[in-house]
Amino acid sequence: MNPANAGNTHELDWKPAWVMKWGSSMLQKYAVGERLSAEDLGTFLRLLPRHHAAAEKEGPGVAGVEKGVNSWSQHCLFIVRVDGSVVTVGTKWIARKGTPPSPHECFAYACRETAKPSTRAFRDSLGAWACQLCGAPTPRSAGEVDHAHPITFKSLIDGWLPHERRDSALFTAVWGEEFSERWVAEWFRRHHDSTARLRWLCKPCHKNESRRIDR
Ligand SMILES: [Zn+2]
Repeated sequence: MNPANAGNTHELDWKPAWVMKWGSSMLQKYAVGERLSAEDLGTFLRLLPRHHAAAEKEGPGVAGVEKGVNSWSQHCLFIVRVDGSVVTVGTKWIARKGTPPSPHECFAYACRETAKPSTRAFRDSLGAWACQLCGAPTPRSAGEVDHAHPITFKSLIDGWLPHERRDSALFTAVWGEEFSERWVAEWFRRHHDSTARLRWLCKPCHKNESRRIDR
């Protein structure tokens, strides 16, 4: 079943992968600033209670949902509330079905989101679409931007802010989506951009590298 056409389904046990796919199909289907159709809004409203912070996201009530651009230049879905306020809502968290992310997960996720424009700019600046490890032809859709060992993404975060300092309210990542303070994100992005060594890898190489690091 095509997730974009699933507005009338009464199936409630939607798998995380399906929810993620539905979210990206919405981002493909609509233009920035455009509101979801009544049918798609219906699907969204049935999915929303699965979000761990659904009540906070809803606020005084949902007037509609539109595609927008968040503070870090990412396309995402925004809830437009009845009082006119807007808030981002990540389908990733809906897919988790009510499991609240730990503060550490929120922190790491906000770091990843903050670094995305930089990794995307790196990919867009590539002159040759070949894996920088094995040399295999690797077009845009077939590769991943890798944080080269030993400056993995994890070590890059740890080098920026040790665990014991992450509980400060300043560094709180709100609902696992982005930092509550924009300057914190800009600070991390500067650290990321001056520290990271990025590589363009084919998917098998990227998988191997990640496995090597996890051990
Ligand atoms: Zn490769």
